[in-house]
Amino acid sequence: MSYPQLIANRKKLEHNTKIIVDRCAEYGVAVTAVTKCYCGLPVLAEAQVVAGVSMLADSRVENLKKLKDLSIPKMLIRIPMLSQVKEVVKFADISLNSEISVIKALGAEAITMNKTHKIMLMIDVGDLREGVMIEEAKAMVDQIGKVEGVELIGIGANYACFGGVMPEYDNIAVLSEVALYAEETIGAPIEIISGGNSCTYQVMREGRTPDSLNHLRLGEIILLGYDSMFDRKIEGSYTDAFTLVAEIIELKEKPSKPIGTIGIDAFGNVPVFEDKGIRKRAILAIGRQDIRIENITPRLEGAEIVGGSSDHMILDVTQCEKDLKVGDLVEFDMAYGGLLSAFTSEYVEKVIL
Ligand SMILES: *Cc1c(COP(=O)(O)O)cnc(C)c1O
Repeated sequence: MSYPQLIANRKKLEHNTKIIVDRCAEYGVAVTAVTKCYCGLPVLAEAQVVAGVSMLADSRVENLKKLKDLSIPKMLIRIPMLSQVKEVVKFADISLNSEISVIKALGAEAITMNKTHKIMLMIDVGDLREGVMIEEAKAMVDQIGKVEGVELIGIGANYACFGGVMPEYDNIAVLSEVALYAEETIGAPIEIISGGNSCTYQVMREGRTPDSLNHLRLGEIILLGYDSMFDRKIEGSYTDAFTLVAEIIELKEKPSKPIGTIGIDAFGNVPVFEDKGIRKRAILAIGRQDIRIENITPRLEGAEIVGGSSDHMILDVTQCEKDLKVGDLVEFDMAYGGLLSAFTSEYVEKVIL
């Protein structure tokens, strides 16, 4: 066993997923579980399938490939690369799209494979990441209608991704206008109106989404049991389905202000320190190679992250009542960026309970 370690609790993940699936069902909204934060690990995806999600989604085809043995529809939620259409048609049942050249390539590939590839057309409602602008949506629908091998089954949008634009009644309702147009003009069987990610959940709970909304792509709120957009815990969910563990390698009392002339730190920044006198500090064997240290919080009462470099993290433990020693393990909660970085780091051992 080695540290740092990321411990994932399957039962807690399943519980968190079920809570969100059931609550969304009250609003007629199906949940697609977004697996990219945990790199599409099949054992974790399976727990989400058991909890009743309608689909699994990832931004990477490589992750969808890992999930190929789970018999549930899979969605690619990043616009496909032209260079990858073959893998997309093979491993994704449906993909999010905004480029007609890509849709045509998907259609051609699907015909070769004797399949129909499903398409969700992304509308950019103003967040300015992917999607066709609303004025161009109808022309795009007309073009998709002429492509063989693909079937337009959904209209979707992103909110609060690049531009921070919040989901609201009106900017979700526009999706169903495009859907109606697609149904009437090209006879597209639009089953899905996909109104965003975790940030739409609370808006939906407050009754501020249109009835036509019937699909959400959810990662963060399920995994963390916490809604960072609205800074609130998800009622009844675990916030500790994932735990990061690191080991103490040095424990000493040292001044809080460096001694000598200050140049730059390991990352090219000029560090500024407040003189708090002599402090008790623990060095943990974890650093920026493993984790975004800004996105993790020690569970140890009284401990505070002072900083870190590539392989070391410095924890001020002056206020801790617990009697610490070298070799002790410290647990952390992770915010989204922390969890993502822990999963993608090959130095962090993954343990699935
Ligand atoms: C990552 C992603 C999501 C999930 O976002 P969360 O905030 O984790 O719920 C949904 N849709 C798209 C297109 C994404 O890239």
